[in-house]
Amino acid sequence: MRVGEKTHHLLSDYLKLLKQRPLSEGDIQILKDAVAQEMKTEFQLSKERDYTSYDRDQRFGLSEHYYGENPAKDGAGIDDKLDEVIGKVHHNLDVFVASDWNEKVQHYFKTAKTVFVESPRQKDFESMKLKLGSIPALKNINIMASPDFGVIFDEKKYLIIDWKSGQEKMDDGVSDQLKIYALKLLLKWDIDIENVEMSGYEVYLPSLKQIGGKIEKSDIDDIIAKLQEDVEFQKQFLIDGDVVRNEPIAHTSFTRTKSEKKCASCTFRKVCGDLKEIE
Ligand code: SF4
Repeated sequence: MRVGEKTHHLLSDYLKLLKQRPLSEGDIQILKDAVAQEMKTEFQLSKERDYTSYDRDQRFGLSEHYYGENPAKDGAGIDDKLDEVIGKVHHNLDVFVASDWNEKVQHYFKTAKTVFVESPRQKDFESMKLKLGSIPALKNINIMASPDFGVIFDEKKYLIIDWKSGQEKMDDGVSDQLKIYALKLLLKWDIDIENVEMSGYEVYLPSLKQIGGKIEKSDIDDIIAKLQEDVEFQKQFLIDGDVVRNEPIAHTSFTRTKSEKKCASCTFRKVCGDLKEIE
């Protein structure tokens, strides 16, 4: 129930304020209370919402309420879990504040040339776009990405951080997501990766495990090749493979997965099942 999203909101609120001034425990409590209130309000909206009709002004809703999953699979109902979920979000911030990362970010705020803190509540879609004009196979493609936290120490040294609160990955290399953020930075400032030192890490909360490292030219070549492969793959689902027109072929060409596991947790399972009846 949205632990990841709300952890991002709270951490962003905290870092944005910390960038301006030192924060007391009271300041931190105000931020925590605000996010708790936000979650309670959204939860209530989700609970009371009429899911049988479409209201364009009321878009928010938890799939647990939509599907009437109360009690949830492990016995406790979703309506009894809100406080526990708020507690997890608060705990993630507490862990961050008590960690070395808290010291490090304050050091960056004081010494780095630029520090970027994402605003996950107010997404700026224009600034999220990658400037792909210099890569012929991708120039008509729209890719949007924005790291959670970025540091430009000087023209030669860069750091990209993605805060994570989900399941930890087993592998320890630089993720594709971090490579895309790096590619975005290189394209934006027309930088050659071989002339700079760039690192990227996924930092998990609450464990503080970090995965990533130095971003090499091979990482950038790899992600460009992957994006090109993806575009080629997806062209088969467009009329005439035309990415500029971007018109999908008939829905009958899209097959359903046979994985019951995927369907069991898919947010679209109801509408997908209803469609099956009329197809
Ligand atoms: S329920 Fe979801 S995952 Fe399963 S086939 Fe339908 S859309 Fe795909």
